Amino acid sequence: MKATLAPPSSLISLPRHKVSSLRSPSLLLQSQRPSSALMTTTATRGSVAVTAAATSSAEALREGIAEFYNETSGLWEEIWGDHMHHGFYDPDSSVQLSDSGHREAQIRMIEESLRFAGVTEEEKKIKRVVDVGCGIGGSSRYIASKFGAECIGITLSPVQAKRANDLAAAQSLSHKVSFQVADALDQPFEDGIFDLVWSMESGEHMPDKAKFVKELVRVTAPGGRIIIVTWCHRNLSQGEESLQPWEQNLLDRICKTFYLPAWCSTSDYVELLQSLSLQDIKCADWSENVAPFWPAVIRTALTWKGLVSLLRSGMKSIKGALTMPLMIEGYKKGVIKFGIIACQKPL
Ligand code: SAH
Repeated sequence: MKATLAPPSSLISLPRHKVSSLRSPSLLLQSQRPSSALMTTTATRGSVAVTAAATSSAEALREGIAEFYNETSGLWEEIWGDHMHHGFYDPDSSVQLSDSGHREAQIRMIEESLRFAGVTEEEKKIKRVVDVGCGIGGSSRYIASKFGAECIGITLSPVQAKRANDLAAAQSLSHKVSFQVADALDQPFEDGIFDLVWSMESGEHMPDKAKFVKELVRVTAPGGRIIIVTWCHRNLSQGEESLQPWEQNLLDRICKTFYLPAWCSTSDYVELLQSLSLQDIKCADWSENVAPFWPAVIRTALTWKGLVSLLRSGMKSIKGALTMPLMIEGYKKGVIKFGIIACQKPL
């Protein structure tokens, strides 16, 4: 299927439940947003007003994401450290791990992702890396140290970018890694310069998945690898047009708190990459491997230290904590999938 980028208006004129589950990447992967403040559903396709509404809704989402991470990153780092992503566990391991065990699981997530994508065998080729949606730079510093590569991270949150740079300086890595505020959908980089394009749990925030993927591909060097690890909804079955209303409802509630637009499936990512002629496209569902993660986060939130930090951190963090059980429910019911998608840009 051809990866045409549909104009913003084509998506926001669609009813919400349709948008997140359309089979055609060109339409589906554009987004609409979760909270009523950004809602543009009555807009008419193609009108100037719609384009303006889409622009302001994308802007509102960007601002929401930046504020969310400005406010919550300190708390996360205090309790969980510098990796703001799921850990990778052996399936069915009934973990009551120590803090260091969870950190190991987060490092393992990075290692398993690199291995899955075939990067581990190509270590020497990895000279320049972009970390798209870098958080406070945990992946960048790890990958830069592992490969001796240069790594640039981008985030929407100025607080994260500063903290990431401070941590790099503290670890004497400033000559290798740097972080800046920039939009993944409009990256401030030349074409074809990165050997590894890394997106760890940022894709779910992207309001236009087609544009997101196109940008990742654009900045990838010929022969370079792309790794997208992200929250997805389940793949739709043959003939199924959308998620069930109860499933959509569950996702909508998560979207509101975590500043997420419409979700898509791993198959949708694969279709997008195929349409851009990427090679060696692979994907996997690691939902079972991340199952212990949210229960562990909730356990830490319920400790004395966790509760005090949560109250100090503010409403966004508190709402985030209250939404965590919905993530567990989503995984248990098979609506939410933890997906990895990897591929290579042709030479
Ligand atoms: N990859 C990091 C952080 C994951 S949290 C880690 O694993 O530790 C999600 C990150 O995506 C945040 O840093 C957020 O700012 C970033 N993000 C979301 N939308 C973005 C966008 N449009 N452009 C750049 N970064 C974005």
